[in-house]
Amino acid sequence: MVKAKKKMEQSPKFDRYLTIVFFITIVSVIFTSYFTFKEIINTHHEKQQNATIPLFSLINSEIIHPLSVAKYISRDHFIIEFAKQDNIDKNKILTYLQQLSNRYQMSSFIALDKHNLMIDSNNKQTGLSHDEAEWYERLKRLPEDEFTDIGNADDPHLYFDVKLYAEPKDFLGFVGIAIDLNTFEEKFAEFQQKYGYELIFTNKDNIITLSSNTLMKTESHHRNSEKVNINTLPWYQKYVEFQNKASTDERITRWNAQDLLVSKIPLKDLNWTLYITSPKPDKQMEYWKIFVTRVGLFLLVTLVLYALFLKAVNYYKSNVLKNADIDFLTKLPNRRYITREFETLSLKYSNVSVVLADIDHFKQVNDTYGHNVGDQVLVAIANTFNENVRQDEMIGRWGGEEFIMILPDTNAEQAFDITERIRKSVEQLTFSSSDKTATFRTTISFGVNHSKFHRTTLKQLIDESDKALYSAKSSGRNKVVVFDE
Ligand code: GH3
Ligand code: MG
Ligand code: MG
Repeated sequence: MVKAKKKMEQSPKFDRYLTIVFFITIVSVIFTSYFTFKEIINTHHEKQQNATIPLFSLINSEIIHPLSVAKYISRDHFIIEFAKQDNIDKNKILTYLQQLSNRYQMSSFIALDKHNLMIDSNNKQTGLSHDEAEWYERLKRLPEDEFTDIGNADDPHLYFDVKLYAEPKDFLGFVGIAIDLNTFEEKFAEFQQKYGYELIFTNKDNIITLSSNTLMKTESHHRNSEKVNINTLPWYQKYVEFQNKASTDERITRWNAQDLLVSKIPLKDLNWTLYITSPKPDKQMEYWKIFVTRVGLFLLVTLVLYALFLKAVNYYKSNVLKNADIDFLTKLPNRRYITREFETLSLKYSNVSVVLADIDHFKQVNDTYGHNVGDQVLVAIANTFNENVRQDEMIGRWGGEEFIMILPDTNAEQAFDITERIRKSVEQLTFSSSDKTATFRTTISFGVNHSKFHRTTLKQLIDESDKALYSAKSSGRNKVVVFDE
């Protein structure tokens, strides 16, 4: 028999559609996440970039500005005239220093060479001997006029010292201002924590003058023993190599040293250079690693889901198609399937016998024993048919209690014999009433027809078989009648 499970009609269009939809989803999810990730990274970069704005204003207010104040004092006519006097009014200079301090929020001082006196805005007065002011003679001897210096190890202060002259070469002493380094430390620490920045200030000799790490605690950098050159820092050599290769003289230079981004900013007013280092590239790689693993995981999960989904769809599809071809009660192929397969057989064989069968007085069975018992009879007769058909022979349920047999390559005589065998088997079947108190039998009538495939159609064959079946019925039922023109 041609089993209904013969390769079901797959719908390749639907499969293709499904695959396309799935892959479009995957691609769009990957694309969206790629751009979202990029956005996140860019936002992070932007944040880092934006952080340099308050950083510059910090440098300006904490370093550049105090220096300009110190320079301003050194050029103030009042101060120069005051320092030149043989007899000085200390209160006058104290008031001046105090006014400055209040205005700029920093302490200021003046060291008068002629009077061997240093006085600051807190009215602290000392001499200028080596014991009282170690720095004085040391800086005085140096050729430069402006100094940045760190002093007072216990309570570190950043000093801006500017030499005071009457004439270009007539040395009068020093004026200067002092900034509490603890304030720096707090502000720089904030940047370091937030953005991973490290700030390193160097003077023109590459000596570190200030930095956001512990070097800041260093005492005066004018003392040789305390000098720390920036070229002793591990990343610096590589940075210089890169600079030489790139031969760039941009004001701000960026360089990737494995895990460090270095920005170099010259601070002209101070004759200093500021280096900002941050671990950005390392972080960036981390982000991309996360992205790639996430996408990989997503792809894996999606592919597994896709495979499962496809399996489920195929299962349902084949079930739906199968059910569309099979009679629910008897599990025999239905009219739709038989009609379609008849065409297939016609291509393979030259002739065919068609048998129509109709259960005798079936209405009575239903009326007497109920519809459920009637159904059982239908199933039992369907099974009897099934037991008597061979490969490539089809048996189907044609209508209510009507069956059809398509027997290719079978002449009328052979068809008659097969049908007779089935008729006798059905005759032998015994059925019980639903309450099992009664048993009964039933019979079936057949109309047989034979033809060459090319001379006929299924419809014609059935019409003729129906005629033979009618004569079987009218001549007493439980019979096989062969159509005869
Ligand atoms: P005949 O010998 O002339 O064929 O008499 P009949 O009673 O078999 O013919 P009729 O066409 O009058 O009745 C057919 C009956 O088959 C009527 C209908 O209720 C019953 N029938 C059709 N399909 C089913 C079914 O699926 N289950 C059950 N139980 N009965 C069905
Ligand atoms: Mg009928
Ligand atoms: Mg009938």
